[in-house]
Amino acid sequence: MTASTACSESADPVDARHSNTFLRLKKKLERGVGEAIAAYDMIGDGDTVMVCVSGGKDSYTLLSCLLALRARAPVDFRIIAVNLDQKQPGFPADVLPSYFESIGVEYRIVTEDTYSIVKDRIPEGKTSCSLCSRLRRGILYRTARELGATRIALGHHRDDIIETLFLNLFFGGRIKAMPPKLVSDDGNHVVIRPLAFCTEREIARFARAMEFPIIPCNLCGSQENAQRSQIKAMLQGWAQEHPGRIESIFTALSNVVPSHLADTSLFDFKGLDRGTIVAEGDTAFDPPELPPSPLRVVSSNIPLASRAHLQHD
Ligand code: SF4
Repeated sequence: MTASTACSESADPVDARHSNTFLRLKKKLERGVGEAIAAYDMIGDGDTVMVCVSGGKDSYTLLSCLLALRARAPVDFRIIAVNLDQKQPGFPADVLPSYFESIGVEYRIVTEDTYSIVKDRIPEGKTSCSLCSRLRRGILYRTARELGATRIALGHHRDDIIETLFLNLFFGGRIKAMPPKLVSDDGNHVVIRPLAFCTEREIARFARAMEFPIIPCNLCGSQENAQRSQIKAMLQGWAQEHPGRIESIFTALSNVVPSHLADTSLFDFKGLDRGTIVAEGDTAFDPPELPPSPLRVVSSNIPLASRAHLQHD
């Protein structure tokens, strides 16, 4: 066996959990979660965090990272794992309770037959996710109230956030993503997404090595929304062909310049006149300020040393 296969995630997961590669990955994910918590002030001393665990790779990873961070956090907070059993056919109801018991986390399983409601109300062949999510959200908010939870943690990650941005951009005519922290419409709940800085790829690698008892997400029979699949494929293509592009898009979400968009509710364009000072400055006739990128040389017979002049200024 070569050194690289010994450390790869395809190796025996028990071995993989002791490899340096895995430990680096674990540390990176936990650091990402810690940074997101700090950047958005997600969790404070005395909070009760209800972690929604569906049985998918993302929510298992979220729970694992939060437990690890709590063990060494300077603040004291409580974690309660919650699973909603929606009575989908074939849902293995014993998997999550056994898992929660095995790691010694406080938990509650909530059973509500939203599956039948969705089946009754949505015609065959139509996508049922929006009604299903609305029902689920109501139940989770109610559960948070019952548990006295001050935070509801969801397992959405960086790639979910970027996909949502493009879904809204391409199909909704809005520049809107998925916030790392939000307040419910009734003002009673604070929802947090501590995996906001973590990539789906790394979460998937971590989940494989951890051998989480994954529950399939298609038990309801619903297919992934076609528009979301289209966006996913586009982003995966970009990630392969243009390294750094996805990271740049995510960075852009926290570098919004309202005076250089066109939304009159975000910036007072009407009140703009000679003498108005705008923080972001005048770039009316300037090209965008982009970092220099080397020209891509696909094939060339010019020796490497003499290609330096091909770099952009
Ligand atoms: S995939 Fe199924 S369980 Fe998930 S939101 Fe859609 S309808 Fe609900």
